Amino acid sequence: MYLPGVGYKTAQRYAYQILNGDEEEVKKLASTILEAKEKIKLCEECGNFTTENVCNICKTRKSKIICVVKEPKDIGCIEKVKNFDCIYHVLHGCISPLDNKGPNDIRLKELLQRISKGEYEEVIVATNPDVQGEATAMYIAKLLKPLGLKVTRLAQGISMGSELEYADEVTLSKAIEARREL
Ligand SMILES: [Zn+2]
Repeated sequence: MYLPGVGYKTAQRYAYQILNGDEEEVKKLASTILEAKEKIKLCEECGNFTTENVCNICKTRKSKIICVVKEPKDIGCIEKVKNFDCIYHVLHGCISPLDNKGPNDIRLKELLQRISKGEYEEVIVATNPDVQGEATAMYIAKLLKPLGLKVTRLAQGISMGSELEYADEVTLSKAIEARREL
């Protein structure tokens, strides 16, 4: 199994550590990983990771602004920005014709269903500012604008091609403030 960010050397170091480690500790680590895999599922509302049917944010927050992100970890990035209240929708991917990933392969249908059920004013598309992220944002704008929703995109405080997770809180906060309508 491939773990992102773990190269050959690091993988070897992990392997040695586990092989030399105390058996009880290794068992604990293995069962923790297995437990996470078994217990964590997707929130029925937004698609975030959760151990319950609906995640904490969806359960406790009411907002007319939905922030659309590519992956669950992106929620943590936007959450760093204080004084900004929104709920989320996780696409679990972006449109990417080169990888044979079309609109039906990401959670767009779920987004439409959600919007048809609730009263929302704005959808902020916070996908990464790369080719796939831009294509996805354009597609969402085309889909939602006829429904009377304001569709916005984060301002280009984040440089082209860089990922949301590398943006600091101030940059992100400015990018949200200066978001532009699509
Ligand atoms: Zn949720």
